[in-house]
Amino acid sequence: MESQAKQQDAVTRSSLALLLDISRELAASLDLRTVLARVLLLSTVNVGAERGSLIVLNDKGQPVEAALAINGQVFHPTVEEMQSILERGLAGWVAQHRQPALIADTREDERWTRRPDDAAERTGSKSAVCVPLFSSGQLTGVLTLVHAQTGFFTSDHLTLLQGIADLAGIAVRNAHLYRSVQEAQRRYHELFEDSIDPILITDWEGRILEANRQAQVVTACPLETLLECSMHQLQSPQTPPLSQYFQALQEGQTVHYETELQRQGSSALPVEVYIRRVMIGESPMLQWILRDISERKQLDTLRDDLSAMIYHDLRSPLANIISSLDILQTLLPQEAAQTIQPVFDIAVRAAERLQRLISSLLDINRLEAGQPIINKRPVAPHVLVAEAVDATHTLAESKRQQLSVALEDDLPVISVDVDMIRRVLINLIENAIKYTPMQGAIEVGSRREGEMIRFWVRDNGPGIPQDALELIFEKFNRLQGERYPKGLGLGLAFCRLAVRAHGGKIWVESALGEGSNFIFILPLR
Ligand code: ADP
Repeated sequence: MESQAKQQDAVTRSSLALLLDISRELAASLDLRTVLARVLLLSTVNVGAERGSLIVLNDKGQPVEAALAINGQVFHPTVEEMQSILERGLAGWVAQHRQPALIADTREDERWTRRPDDAAERTGSKSAVCVPLFSSGQLTGVLTLVHAQTGFFTSDHLTLLQGIADLAGIAVRNAHLYRSVQEAQRRYHELFEDSIDPILITDWEGRILEANRQAQVVTACPLETLLECSMHQLQSPQTPPLSQYFQALQEGQTVHYETELQRQGSSALPVEVYIRRVMIGESPMLQWILRDISERKQLDTLRDDLSAMIYHDLRSPLANIISSLDILQTLLPQEAAQTIQPVFDIAVRAAERLQRLISSLLDINRLEAGQPIINKRPVAPHVLVAEAVDATHTLAESKRQQLSVALEDDLPVISVDVDMIRRVLINLIENAIKYTPMQGAIEVGSRREGEMIRFWVRDNGPGIPQDALELIFEKFNRLQGERYPKGLGLGLAFCRLAVRAHGGKIWVESALGEGSNFIFILPLR
C-alpha cells in the first residue's frame, strides 16, 4: 500500500517536472514548426508513444500547419493531407466534439479510420489517445499519440497529455499569431517595395528612414544617400514647411499638395505628394507617396499654348473680318443697301458671336488661373442690359420669342469689366433662347438690392431638375434629353468664374416644365 503511494508520488513529481520542462521548451521559440516539433517529440517521448500527430487549426477550424512524429523523426504533411486526417478518423472526432478520446484497441473503435497503409493484418491493433488544444477557450489544435500495443494508454497518460495540451495550446496559438503578423509584414513590405509610386517613410522632421525601389529610381539616389536626406531637401524650396501640416496629420488626415522633386543630375520632376501618419511598430511615422504628374503638367502647358494660339491666330483675323465688314458697309451703293443689308447683318452677328466665344474660352483659362479683373470701368446696368438684348434680339426673333426688359429706375453705376459682364448676360440670354421652345417668353432685368445690383434672365422653357441646379455651372456639364439641344457646357462655367471674379454670386431658380430664372448679383463697390 505504502509502496503504491510512493510510486504514485513519483509519477506525479515526474509529470510535474515534465510539464515544467515542456513549458520552458515552448517559451524558447515563436517559430510555429519548431514549436510543433517540440510539443510532439516531448509528448511522444515522455508518454512512450511511437507515433503522434499535431494539427494546428485557424479561427475557422481549418488546418494551417501540422507535424507527424514517427520513431523520433518529425515530418510536415501538406494541407490536403492535414485536411484528410481531420475529415475522417480520431482527430476529426476530437476536433468536432472538443473532448479527449482514449482508445484501448483501434480495431474495436469506429472513431479510428483505417487507411490502406494501416491495415490490421499489416500493422496490427493499436491503442491511441487524442486531446484537443485550447487557447482562451478557442480550439487551436489536436494532438494524437499512437502505440502499437493495445491497452497501452491509461487515464494517467490522458491526464498528462491533457496537461501538455493545455501548455501547448497557448504556445501554438502564439506561434500561429506570430506567423500571421510576420506574413502581414512581409506582404506590406512587398507592396511597399513593388509599388509603382515612390514611397518614403520619415520621422516628423521629414528625415527619411525608409524608401522603396521606385523612390530610389525617381530621385536617382541610392538608398544610402536617401537615408541621409530629409524630404525638405528633396522638394522644391517653395514647398510649405512640414510643420504647417502637423495638426492635420496628427488628426489622421491625409495631406496633399503639388511640388517639384529635385533630382540628382536631371531636371526637377512635378509630383503630387500625399502624406499621412502611419504606425511603424509603436512609433507614429509619416508615409509619403509621390505621384509623377509630369504628363498632366505637359497637357496643361499644351492647353495654355493652344489658348494662346486661339488668341493670336483666330482672334486677330476675326477682328479683321469684322472691321472689313464695317468698311464694306460704308462703301455699299445706296441702291444695293436694302437688299444686301440683311446678309451683312448675319455676317456681322456671326463673326461677333465667334469673337465672344473665343474671348470666353480665353477668360476661363485666365480666371481659373486666378488672374484678377484689371480693366474695370463704370457702367450703368441698363446699358449692359440694352447692349446684351441688342446682340441677341435677332436670334430671339428667329424663334418668334418675346424678349422683354424689366429695369428699375435710377440704378447706380457699377464698376466692372464691361465686355466680360456683357458676355455673361449675352450667354444667359442665348441659353434662354436656345432652351426655350418657339414663341416662348424671356425677360432680362436688373434692380438694386442693398449694396448689390441684381441681374436676371428668366424664361418659360423646360426648366432644370433640382439636383442639376449646381452642376450645370461646372465645366462640360450638360443636361441630357431632347429638351436640351447640344452645346459645349462651358457657357455657365465662364459666367460663374466671371461673376465670382467680380466678388459676386450666380445661381439659378427653376421648376421643371415651368422655366428657369438665372440670377447674378454684383457688389456696388
Ligand atoms: P451649353 O449651353 O453650351 O450646353 P452651358 O454651360 O451654357 O453650356 O449650360 C449648361 C447646361 O445647362 C446646358 O447644357 C443645359 O442643359 C442647361 N441650361 C442652361 N441654361 C438653361 C435654360 N435657360 N433652361 C434650361 N436648361 C438650361
